[in-house]
Amino acid sequence: MNMLTNHLPTDELQKLDAAHHMHPFTSGTELAGKGARVITRAKGVTLTDSDGNEMLDAMAGLWCVNIGYGRDELADAAARQMKELPYYNTFFHTTHVPAIALSQKLAELTPPHINNVFFASSGSEANDTNIRLVRTYWAEKGHPEKKIIITRHNAYHGSSVGSASLGGMKPMHAHGGLPIPDIHHIDEPNWYAAGGDMSPEDFGLERARQLETAIEHYGADRVAAFIGEPVQGAGGVIIPPETYWPEIERICRKHDILLIADEVICGFGRTGKWFGSETMGITPDIMTIAKGLSSGYAPIGGSLLSDEVAKVMNDCDFAHGYTYSGHPVACAVALENLRILDEEGIVDRVGSETAPYAKEKWESLADHPLVGEARIIGLMGSIALSPDPANRAPFKADTGTAGLICREHCFNSGLVMRHVGDRMVISPPLVITKDEIDTLVDRAWQALDKTHKDLKDKGLMEAG
Ligand code: PMP
Repeated sequence: MNMLTNHLPTDELQKLDAAHHMHPFTSGTELAGKGARVITRAKGVTLTDSDGNEMLDAMAGLWCVNIGYGRDELADAAARQMKELPYYNTFFHTTHVPAIALSQKLAELTPPHINNVFFASSGSEANDTNIRLVRTYWAEKGHPEKKIIITRHNAYHGSSVGSASLGGMKPMHAHGGLPIPDIHHIDEPNWYAAGGDMSPEDFGLERARQLETAIEHYGADRVAAFIGEPVQGAGGVIIPPETYWPEIERICRKHDILLIADEVICGFGRTGKWFGSETMGITPDIMTIAKGLSSGYAPIGGSLLSDEVAKVMNDCDFAHGYTYSGHPVACAVALENLRILDEEGIVDRVGSETAPYAKEKWESLADHPLVGEARIIGLMGSIALSPDPANRAPFKADTGTAGLICREHCFNSGLVMRHVGDRMVISPPLVITKDEIDTLVDRAWQALDKTHKDLKDKGLMEAG
């Protein structure tokens, strides 16, 4: 029997899954008790599970299926490439056509000063590249002591030792003794949670200036780089105040610190332009990419370098690389994905049509009595659940209690929406239509109603 197309009954699949498959960020014991949801098919923005239930995937998988599910062109590109050249490496002075073509396409799509890419297979790997790369860059320029990388609490940059150290997730640091040395975290620009009585603009400046304080603390001669997501994704879709990024860039330039924009979520149209850096008006030296690069159809990531950084790195024999750096099948799939995003005008449509429509609809959720704020930029949005929205108050119950209840109601209402603590986040495929946005927001409202009722019934509407 072909397990892929004519699968076993759901409960048998769940038992086998629990017996042999360990899931990321999951307690296997807890999951075994209820059984994993088995997704079997997808088309456009719609997932189908092993019992035939359909769900609108407002998360585009893990923020990655920008182009939507079921594009045969990408499958055909993979099949063609597998038959012609399934694998060859790019070490030892060799190359192949898919890596050449994808590098060229990326140079065309990125801002003019960025024309080089170092490939990896994921965002985590690419950020690990960045750690070694920025330290090597400064060493090559005669400043080997410039090693410290400044990043932010609650940032997400990946799950490997290096990238999780760059990240600011405390539970991740607890597993494995992170962060590695010479990483410093400053506070995130989360006005809703920490802005108090300050205006968002003043708060943005205050948070950005923590970078300058940290640089002055260590001395600019010891700081290599600052890294940040243009809009924090896994941290809860935290859209920074408008004052934040220009000030960060000013500080980096003043102190000669490299600026790394982690575009793993924001890249390839998510914020309504090709890159989140463009939306935020910044000019980074390095951009991390993955996810939307192939719309998740093949594992691929990379570090995009400015001409200045690339020149220094090209003059040195950087002792770094992965077996799958520039994997030909992943490159061919990514290239086809970028062709479609570009030629079908998907990114432009998000910026000019879909995002403005989604903004109007999504922000209407702020009228729900359980919602403290509802914000969206491009097609990444979040709502903060609150027992006392007028005062932006958190719940007295453990963080994430309300969020988890809401997530379950979303699933049961045919909507995949994720929770980060008590924030609900969305990042749907960029091909989502206006009708599908209406459905998304209707289902979110229904789930909020049910969550509100549950929280009241359980006595959990108390502010903490
Ligand atoms: N950077 C950011 C901003 C991310 O959101 C993620 C993944 N969610 C990563 C890096 C890590 O990417 P990957 O899971 O492909 O290693």
